[in-house]
Amino acid sequence: MENVNYENHFTFAGCDTVALAEEFGTPLYVVSEEMIRERCGEIRENFLNKYKNVKAAYASKAFLTMAMCKIIESEGLGLDVVSGGELYTAIKAGFPTENIMFHGNNKSWEELELAVINDVGRIIVDNIYELDLLEEITKQQNKKMKILFRVTPGIKGETHEYIVTGQKDSKFGIPLEPEKINDVVARVMDSENIELMGFHFHLGSQLFENHIYKAGIEVIAKLMKDLKEGLGFITKELNAGGGFGIRYTSEDHPQPLHYFTDAIMEAVEIQCCKHNLDLPTIIIEPGRWIVGEAGVTLYTIGSIKEIPNIRTYASIDGGLPDNPRPALYKAKYDALVANKMNEELSTTVTIAGKCCESGDILIWDLDTPPLEAGDILAVLSTGAYNFSMASNYNRLPRPAVVLINKEHPELIVERESYDHLLDREIIPSYLKK
Ligand SMILES: *Cc1c(COP(=O)(O)O)cnc(C)c1O
Repeated sequence: MENVNYENHFTFAGCDTVALAEEFGTPLYVVSEEMIRERCGEIRENFLNKYKNVKAAYASKAFLTMAMCKIIESEGLGLDVVSGGELYTAIKAGFPTENIMFHGNNKSWEELELAVINDVGRIIVDNIYELDLLEEITKQQNKKMKILFRVTPGIKGETHEYIVTGQKDSKFGIPLEPEKINDVVARVMDSENIELMGFHFHLGSQLFENHIYKAGIEVIAKLMKDLKEGLGFITKELNAGGGFGIRYTSEDHPQPLHYFTDAIMEAVEIQCCKHNLDLPTIIIEPGRWIVGEAGVTLYTIGSIKEIPNIRTYASIDGGLPDNPRPALYKAKYDALVANKMNEELSTTVTIAGKCCESGDILIWDLDTPPLEAGDILAVLSTGAYNFSMASNYNRLPRPAVVLINKEHPELIVERESYDHLLDREIIPSYLKK
């Protein structure tokens, strides 16, 4: 199923990955614009054009550069940001700010001010402290902002526990205690500068089942009913978050988008009918589903260490700093030896990163052809939460990012240099002597 050219090299988005590694160096993030646009097209076809009153936003924390903002804008999707830095990136890329939604559980005064001044479309307010700040800032700036409340419907996602966020014991959102939520909604209904449009929940990530979304909607619909009856509050928008699972390895069996979106829309209709509510606008915000499978990372194999009767470690020129997910979540990845696509997978190796951490293992027990130093390893499905999570641990410069469009590779993020690493450093004068 993988793409191979006449030189037996792995091709990605029509480009020879061995040639890319040679031209741009390794480690290298390679991203396919066509694959991103294909996913956006699927969102349009199976969701935006299929239903009335629906919207989709790309959760930019998965992978954000100014070029990515341009792609998402041209596809007609909105953009989720979770920090001042992400917001600033979108603003600098000229992304229409009315289509930006600002998330996060601890937005600062400065971040909120940046959002208010730039007329960000929605602020997803996570807590009362944030509401207080926003109230003050909007008054000061003489602006009216539209918000959603993030709520925690108290549902547990079936995924790795570190990335479950919809349960009650969560740092995200306002718990659905009846008095609490009533008070805060009543308060905002009286506000001159803040307009509450509805609610947001995000149940988790890398989800493969749709019933958890249905359960979430059931809980929120009950809330909508109570608020309508109790306060006369009408929920106009309901944001069901992201989290649609993708294929990292052959163990993952992702569902098509409509498996989730049809279930969400059906649940909304059933619940609203049951409680005699008007249908709100429904918003989804996939991140990894849009970009995850659209990226690969290329590494060069260096040292190969065979420990007889135990295992063989093959070390790469990157690892934990450019992909922390295996260390952080025990995330699994699949990989190919890009320059040996015709050879039999006759050996098993463990792919080790080059950090001084024994936990820096990218892939355990990968079947490969016999390896040599200089081979190019292509790790698959690294488009999401790799570049965006990269660090400089061990002072490794962060990799470059190449975007491929119509088989043409274009650098969209330069490789960091050693001088970049020193850019912000200052030696106090008394230490210079
Ligand atoms: C992270 C996040 C998403 C996207 O999650 P994916 O698993 O990448 O789809 C969507 N909404 C919110 C609020 C998030 O925090």
